[in-house]
Amino acid sequence: MNMWDSIKGVIFAIPKGMSITFRYLFRKPVTEQYPNVKPKFEDRYRGLHYLTRYPDGTERCVCCGLCAAACPADCIYMEPADTPEGVRYAKIYEINELRCIFCGMCEEACPEEAIFLGHEFEFSSYNRDDFIWTKEMLLENYDKIEKFRVAKDIKPPIRQERREYMKPAQPLD
Ligand code: SF4
Ligand code: SF4
Repeated sequence: MNMWDSIKGVIFAIPKGMSITFRYLFRKPVTEQYPNVKPKFEDRYRGLHYLTRYPDGTERCVCCGLCAAACPADCIYMEPADTPEGVRYAKIYEINELRCIFCGMCEEACPEEAIFLGHEFEFSSYNRDDFIWTKEMLLENYDKIEKFRVAKDIKPPIRQERREYMKPAQPLD
């Protein structure tokens, strides 16, 4: 390429580039103004987990282990215990969010509708230990989500009838 070709290239390239700039100047921006404006995710987006409660505040998780069995990343750990009334619950329930691949298999496997993946994505840290989310943290996450849901009058994602199954069956006459 000789010098004249180089000059010609520059002369044509500048108006061409500016024409594209002006064309987009009056269009609706597609860029997201994060972190000033939080992005809107689709309903199916899978972010940070939360453990749900019944309306009376008791935990739905019965520590059955099905979520851990279904997890392909082997990142759920739990230890069961019984309440004085004989109700099984998770004494320890932890999810290692660093190992998690956010596949959603745990929420699919759960028979109690106790574990879900929410829309929270801002939980980065410089400390690896901060990514071990304990039962208390996961329940607290639910409380936060539930408060927002009630304030916005959004339909609950979980069925409420599980508690009904626990009632003794009526005797057959
Ligand atoms: S979303 Fe997938 S990888 Fe993460 S805890 Fe659930 S099953 Fe495991
Ligand atoms: S979250 Fe659901 S599947 Fe996992 S242990 Fe609790 S009840 Fe079982």
